[in-house]
Amino acid sequence: MATLTFLGAARTVTGSKYLVDVGDGRVLVDCGLFQGLKSLRERNWQALPVEATSIHTVVLTHAHLDHSGYLPRLVAQGFRGRVFCTPGTADLCRLILPDSARLQEEDARQANRHGYSKHAPALPLYTEPDAFRAVTQLQPVGFNRPIEVLPGVVIEFVSAGHLLGSAFVRMTLAGPPPKHILFGGDLGRYNRPVLPDPSPPPEAGVLLCESTYGDRRHPPNDDGEAFAAIVRDTINRGGRLVIPSFAVGRVEEILYWLKRLEDAKRIPQVPVFLDSPMALEALKFYRSRGHELDEEMLDAKRVVSAFSVARLTSVASPQQSKEVTASQTPAIIISSSGMATGGRVLHHLKQTLPYAKNTVLFVGFQADGTRGRALVEGATEVKIHGAWVPVNAQIARIDSMSAHADSAEILQWITGFSKPPLVTYLVHGEPVPMDALKVSIERHAGWAVRTPALGEQVEL
Ligand SMILES: [Zn+2]
Repeated sequence: MATLTFLGAARTVTGSKYLVDVGDGRVLVDCGLFQGLKSLRERNWQALPVEATSIHTVVLTHAHLDHSGYLPRLVAQGFRGRVFCTPGTADLCRLILPDSARLQEEDARQANRHGYSKHAPALPLYTEPDAFRAVTQLQPVGFNRPIEVLPGVVIEFVSAGHLLGSAFVRMTLAGPPPKHILFGGDLGRYNRPVLPDPSPPPEAGVLLCESTYGDRRHPPNDDGEAFAAIVRDTINRGGRLVIPSFAVGRVEEILYWLKRLEDAKRIPQVPVFLDSPMALEALKFYRSRGHELDEEMLDAKRVVSAFSVARLTSVASPQQSKEVTASQTPAIIISSSGMATGGRVLHHLKQTLPYAKNTVLFVGFQADGTRGRALVEGATEVKIHGAWVPVNAQIARIDSMSAHADSAEILQWITGFSKPPLVTYLVHGEPVPMDALKVSIERHAGWAVRTPALGEQVEL
């Protein structure tokens, strides 16, 4: 009897890990880090219920850290199998995983230097060599090309429109009768620039569906006006606009809108600093994979020019980053991490948050327990590198640039099933949105919906 165990993203948004055990083999679908609240992050240090060496294969839906970032830890624990993913995901993982390792190592160093860890010495969850080893195990497979990853277990990637290379994973377990499980990964959006719409779902008996925005509707398409207004207001005040952004995925959409608004003369041309070497690298992959992007990007010239903001400077060295941080001239700074949990953006925030003329704009989901969440919820001070920083800057948030489907888009997507799954498990959501989505799906589609707990095991 095959089983499915929810090892992460169960009633929370991070740590996606789903273990399929078919008796004589184990496949882990997604291998994500827990992020956000300390109680969640501490789970990254807890042992999995099975030995890493007993897992034969990993399959990744996409490269975001909450889906891929535990992989180096799994490798450090002895996992030596192949990691199936799309070519786009493989490209991005080669950037993201070593960078994540460097952040883990840097955080441990900072904690040791400033003595703000309870553990002495603070250790990184994994190191750069672990990450480099992990990426050698990546095994790219194109979209819509079924491949047997274990005897009797076939997987296929279907484009999800959430990030370059992002996919649903349709797993087929040999019968009789064969069983189809659809791991929805993160679901993209309809009618947005840069990325394509999510593909219609292939038929499956078991569905795992995300619920990040299960209780929310994104604002209607305003052709970038909310964003334009924030840029204009900040620049008119002589302030700086800092946009914490995931280095991969959101930066492309921000640059796309800046370029479009500049071209239409709806915002002034001001210096834009992209302070994330990784974002710049990722941008190259977006440009080279134009055929996987939104239809309007299919033309090679358009995909190159779409992100080419007039006064764009990419900040390479930490020294250059310090100079940008120290300057007070009006500018737009895009830097990671997106939830302000680490990275170079922290230096910019320290410098920006105390002054009312500045704006900090959040464009992605802010998980519980992150500085980003505290700021959007109105914190009057936040702790950065062990010191409290007062918040006097304007704090803004635009949900329309989210890469996650809202409740209406999730319902739109699931109505694409030719026949309802026998059971739908909601994952990748905090309890309130998840429960709201459960009620909507039950009411609108009449499906059987469950919200599994962490560690819960079900029969397939
Ligand atoms: Zn994602």
